[in-house]
Amino acid sequence: MSVLVLAETDGKQLKPSTYQALTAAQAWQLPVDILVYGSELDAATTAARQLNGVRRVLVAQAKHLQHPLVEDVQELVLSVASQYTHILSAHSVFDKSVVPGIAARLDIAPVTDVIEIRAPATYVRPAYAGNILSTIENPQPLQIITVRATAFKPAAPREGNGADAELVVIDVPPTRGLSQWIGEQLTHSDRPELNTARVVIAGGRSLGEQFDALLNPIAEQLDAAIGATRACVDAGFAANDLQVGQTGTIIAPELYIAVGISGAMQHLAGIKDSKIIVAINHDPDAPIFKHADYGLVADLFTALPELTGALQQH
Ligand code: FAD
Repeated sequence: MSVLVLAETDGKQLKPSTYQALTAAQAWQLPVDILVYGSELDAATTAARQLNGVRRVLVAQAKHLQHPLVEDVQELVLSVASQYTHILSAHSVFDKSVVPGIAARLDIAPVTDVIEIRAPATYVRPAYAGNILSTIENPQPLQIITVRATAFKPAAPREGNGADAELVVIDVPPTRGLSQWIGEQLTHSDRPELNTARVVIAGGRSLGEQFDALLNPIAEQLDAAIGATRACVDAGFAANDLQVGQTGTIIAPELYIAVGISGAMQHLAGIKDSKIIVAINHDPDAPIFKHADYGLVADLFTALPELTGALQQH
């Protein structure tokens, strides 16, 4: 019995979700292999080989994996799947597309968005926007699991002088040619990434056209990522990729500051694992206060500049 973890890279380095998925994979106390795929894998492979609890790193390097396409990654995973009793990935946007196809072709139902693994085959996963946690048992012979990365601590590099995990270069199946990579537009920001930032400050639709002007200076001071509610995004005040919540990014920062946000359950679903929640809202009855560790009942248009000014003095 052994576990295969699907790594994710940004083209070169392992993404943080891979480290978190690896921690989740340790729950079974079985040998764990990581599959790293792409076209420039030196940095990712070296990092993967040095991680605690990794038996082997399977390397799939091919030109057509430079911009991996869902069908090609599925083919790749299927080419090694018979060696494993467990296949696990982060519940990331890309792997959410990859995993169901693998599961369908193996005639297995996947268990997705898991936040706790109770070995051998019991899983806890949120449902109804995190309003209930369901505990389910999965009796299938092959366990195909995606995990909510923020629910798991990142795996650390091996301590001491232990040998690196074995490196296995695997044959890559040819591209299926079902889709083609045309191009991508990436937003470049000096800010930390929303899903891994230690501090996130998010605004609601009440910030209006002043969203950037009010949040940027304070985010700068706190080295924070900026988030937004769906209402704020829908109104065109913030970019789509800033949306936090059930249908946006799920985050678990050490400090989350909600500015002019009502605290709808779909928004809370994305922030409830934050360590400390601070809310600024002029309505003392706003639902967000029920979930906040610290609340400030104040007009955000006065409170935010004051807070920014105070931080600048330190
Ligand atoms: P509002 O609910 O309008 O709240 C504005 C808040 O600002 C109020 O509490 C008000 O008191 C406060 N305020 C106003 N003026 C000031 C001021 N001057 N100073 C201080 N406070 C002020 N939402 C998400 O965020 N993420 C999701 O992923 C998401 N997914 C959804 C999925 C579905 C299927 C559905 C149906 C909805 C989803 N929503 C999501 C929308 C969600 O239900 C709420 O509508 C949204 O979160 C509300 O955003 P808001 O807090 O910006 O706006």
